[in-house]
Amino acid sequence: MLGLKDKVIVVSGGNRGIGAAIVALLEDHGARVAYTYRTTPGPRGTLALQGDVTDKAGMAALLDRVEAELGPIYGAVANAAIHTDNLFHTLSEDQWRSVFETNVFGAVNFMAPITRRLAERREGSMVFIGSVVADRGNFGQSNYSATKGAIHAMAKSMARELARKQVRVNVVAPGFIDTDMVKGLEDPIREKLTREIPMRRFGQPEDIAWATAYLLSPVASAYVTGEVLQVNGALIT
Ligand code: NDP
Repeated sequence: MLGLKDKVIVVSGGNRGIGAAIVALLEDHGARVAYTYRTTPGPRGTLALQGDVTDKAGMAALLDRVEAELGPIYGAVANAAIHTDNLFHTLSEDQWRSVFETNVFGAVNFMAPITRRLAERREGSMVFIGSVVADRGNFGQSNYSATKGAIHAMAKSMARELARKQVRVNVVAPGFIDTDMVKGLEDPIREKLTREIPMRRFGQPEDIAWATAYLLSPVASAYVTGEVLQVNGALIT
């Protein structure tokens, strides 16, 4: 139904959390999915590749390997990210630099070599995993939310540049999703956040995977580009 059968799709950080759910769902829809991991490989996927998104040359080599082993890439999901939380006035320069290195430059290192290929072939779909905090902000996350705002803006500009090449670029912006990224939250903070979500629950990684699969689909979202798809239980509307 989604038209993803045999499509080659590559996902950064596909070993756990939201990335692993994306890999699994795309595989369930017949895609040939390559994914990157930094520490330990994940449970699903056609091809697992060890690599750090902050390593520009390493990412380019890794994407060459995807095409050599699986064929031309059709779709890409820039998902890998970190957070280094602190109040704005106590954030260290290293905490600022490390989130920008991984979340922004890492996404660029991963997507740039793919963009060139898709533009040449005049087809493809690219999805960035952004965040609700780009629009809403979040206590203790001024640095992380700034990286996500950068991703949203970058994707919209890329969409304008690549539209004439028939390559689509979109963002999925998750709300609070049950993964390792939020497992460290203390109970009172988690309860407070849950009360702020009109659906009164955190989302599941699969909720983000379905939104991503929709935006990758050449059938379901053929004319959708430059969009930020919010998936957040009405946390912002
Ligand atoms: P997790 O912390 O569970 O997983 C992070 C993933 O990113 C892991 O696969 C990790 O690999 C990978 N990664 C981190 N740094 C690097 C790096 N330098 N190079 C390569 N891979 C790296 O995060 P989530 O699954 O929760 O988040 C996935 C995406 O969703 C992120 O973009 C995040 O910002 C976004 N998001 C998440 C929300 C949430 O509530 N969970 C809310 C809004 C957005 P490894 O395991 O090898 O370290």
